Amino acid sequence: MNAFTGVFDRAGSTLGMMDDLQVAVHTYDGCARGCPGCLVDKHFKNDARFRPILPPSDLSIVHSRVSEYFDWVRATLNTKGDGYFGKEGYKVEHFSYTFRFGNHAELPLDSLEEIAAAMPCENRVFSTGPTEDVAKFAELRKRQPGRYFLEIIMDPLVDSGEAIRDMILEMRRNGILGYPEILLTRRMLDAFTPERFVDHLAPLGNIGAQVQFGRYSPSRTRGFASSQMLPVDEEVEWLARFAALVVERGYDMHPIPLGEYAVTLLDEYGEMAARGADGRVAEERLPEPTPFDARIVREKTRDILLTSLYVDHNLDLFVWSESMGQHVLDSNLGFKPLGNIRQRSIQDIVCEPGGGIDRMLSGIVRELVTHPKCSGCRYKSFCASHAVPLFRKWHPDDGRHCYGYLPVIREFQKDVAFLDNMVEGFKKLGF
Ligand code: SF4
Repeated sequence: MNAFTGVFDRAGSTLGMMDDLQVAVHTYDGCARGCPGCLVDKHFKNDARFRPILPPSDLSIVHSRVSEYFDWVRATLNTKGDGYFGKEGYKVEHFSYTFRFGNHAELPLDSLEEIAAAMPCENRVFSTGPTEDVAKFAELRKRQPGRYFLEIIMDPLVDSGEAIRDMILEMRRNGILGYPEILLTRRMLDAFTPERFVDHLAPLGNIGAQVQFGRYSPSRTRGFASSQMLPVDEEVEWLARFAALVVERGYDMHPIPLGEYAVTLLDEYGEMAARGADGRVAEERLPEPTPFDARIVREKTRDILLTSLYVDHNLDLFVWSESMGQHVLDSNLGFKPLGNIRQRSIQDIVCEPGGGIDRMLSGIVRELVTHPKCSGCRYKSFCASHAVPLFRKWHPDDGRHCYGYLPVIREFQKDVAFLDNMVEGFKKLGF
């Protein structure tokens, strides 16, 4: 990686940088909807409606372990010599809880309060479906003060752009921020050309909304349908056209994660110097890449894995990978628990020599240096931190494109003003 070149004014913006210990917790899975690519566990979806999954005693265990771990993270990760975090690197400043995966708007207010009261922190995120009952979360915020965010699972075949815009505006009037999340599935791409989809999202195109895209991935307990998986080439080409149209129309919208990656590569990988007059980043103008140092890449990736965790309903601990979608790397995706936090502290589990984190890191680095597409590629360190190799366990990217989604990133890189607006948008979101 090249030195931070500072072409964007990112002070106060969290775009493309981590400063948060983020812990997702499996608190509710009820939902009446049937989105393709549904993320909720079938058992909890159908048999545990309208009540939280975790009792207050378990929530207390989670909070006590996370609080203790947060102290360890600040004392250890923020002060070490190298890695993503450290004396010279980024710092973990706070921690947040993300309550997943069902429609938490279905829970009674008292149950939401039970969760929020047991899990005090600066930023709390609840997953929901689109709901008109924003007042419930506004009341929750009054009862348990703090910053609240809603991640709204949007099914574009059912939900209009207007409905999501109205919900976000109502949330903002009540001091709550949030964004829609959209899963790319066969059903969605069959229903929408990029042109139609940009039209569909037009109501969100002038309110500075983040819109998060995710890749569909297999799941054991969540009704996985292999027929919904998309070939990587088709997904990349669809998204590249979508990106070009969003930029062309000058939407005040922040598509993540790929718009975010466009900033990181321009800013931290020196790619601004490779842009021509037409905004196109030309491969032949790219700066000489920094040689791949497996030890450094491993350290940086380790820091990212250690600050993005998931606790399931058994209090088993897993990594939560934020890449093209927010995937918890749990048994649904074929990963064994790193450990159980009823029995051991989080720091003990994640630091275990030869444990789950070590094995995951070895797998990521080995895959990147040996894979025919990645071994000679300049973006290995970037893709390591986004756990790219893990996607290949489920679906190969053996066509024209790869999980780096570079053609999409290149479209966003053409318009620096669009990306600047994203940087500003992240400042307002503050998270
Ligand atoms: S996934 Fe693609 S962009 Fe990433 S390292 Fe491999 S070849 Fe390069």
